[in-house]
Amino acid sequence: MKIVDLRATTVAVPLEAPLRHANGAHWGRFIRTIVEVVCDNGVVGLGEMGGGGASAEAAVMGLKPYVLGHDPLQLEQLRWKIMNPVGSLYNARAQLHAAVEMACMDAAGKGLGIRACDLLGGALREEIPFASYLFFRHRNAATGAGGETSADEIVAHAIDLKTKHGFTTHKLKAGVFPPAHEIEVYRALAAAFPTDRLRIDPNSVWTVEEAIHVGRAILDLNNDYFEDPCWGLEGMRRLRQFVPIPTATNAVVVNFEQLAQSIRQDLIDVVLLDTTFWGGLRQAHKAGTVLETFQYGASVHSSGELGIQLASMLHLGASLPNIGFAADAHYHHLTDDIIKGGPFRYKNGSIALPKGPGLGVELDRDKMAEYAEHFRRLGGYAYDRDPARPNWY
Ligand code: MG
Repeated sequence: MKIVDLRATTVAVPLEAPLRHANGAHWGRFIRTIVEVVCDNGVVGLGEMGGGGASAEAAVMGLKPYVLGHDPLQLEQLRWKIMNPVGSLYNARAQLHAAVEMACMDAAGKGLGIRACDLLGGALREEIPFASYLFFRHRNAATGAGGETSADEIVAHAIDLKTKHGFTTHKLKAGVFPPAHEIEVYRALAAAFPTDRLRIDPNSVWTVEEAIHVGRAILDLNNDYFEDPCWGLEGMRRLRQFVPIPTATNAVVVNFEQLAQSIRQDLIDVVLLDTTFWGGLRQAHKAGTVLETFQYGASVHSSGELGIQLASMLHLGASLPNIGFAADAHYHHLTDDIIKGGPFRYKNGSIALPKGPGLGVELDRDKMAEYAEHFRRLGGYAYDRDPARPNWY
């Protein structure tokens, strides 16, 4: 099998309502670049990358000299071609590589009639549990959805998501309101779901002292972990001296150098593995096996995926032995997807690993055209700006 063409298409898929976070908001849509590798036997492999527009598409197209003629099954060669550690001093290709590698694993799997997880050693589970990812949302003016600020409103939103999807783990995306309010909201969730699991993530916005204060105020709850309450490996190290809740990060351990430092100095308990931040599904899987060796926790991170990347997350969650927690997904906040058969569905809080070869998803080209047009109409947005608080940095 040889790759004969590479394609990149930016799409914008609407969210039910804008999602707020510590340093900005998702303004009502997710913008993603869909990457396709076309092979000489007619197989098309699918990958996905965060962000989009002309510069993102051009960056993917810039990889053509590395990718055309490449055998998609030669995944380690691909990594060294695109993402070798010396070269990466001069470029930032980890996420580009991730999208192309995802597409190659999909193509290789489809060519061989095996699933992407089989290229990682096979599936240990067929159902991947997820957390209800709860956000303070702006109201969608067109539909009236969203607008949650109070504890009662967030609990009502969580009950709605649990009713629809069956979640038994709840994650609050915090860092939007002062810590006292977010403690009240988080404790209200704990009271509403006394047997469910909880986690809180303010995207590193609190000082170490604020994080200690919040940690001490939630010590008695069913916490999976305390996710990026403050910034940096050193901030997380200090926090741990005062708060006996396992810590987790998707922000400050996102490559192997940081993983080595975190383990060597025993800085963070759980690493949330992202199939794009780490440079691909295989890299996230490798990091997971390092965590297994040293007996640290691992889970699956969400960076705002459509169905292609969600499929990569399912294959990661299925193949790593040491996944100790429900995965995260922004996925249920989307109104639609660009894959055939419509969006993945949750059952009892889990999503089934696809049965088909490769990633197990196919592109719905009509949907892709519709949402490519949606992107052309609306353009991008600044992830780190919230239109409701324009002077917030
Ligand atoms: Mg996080």
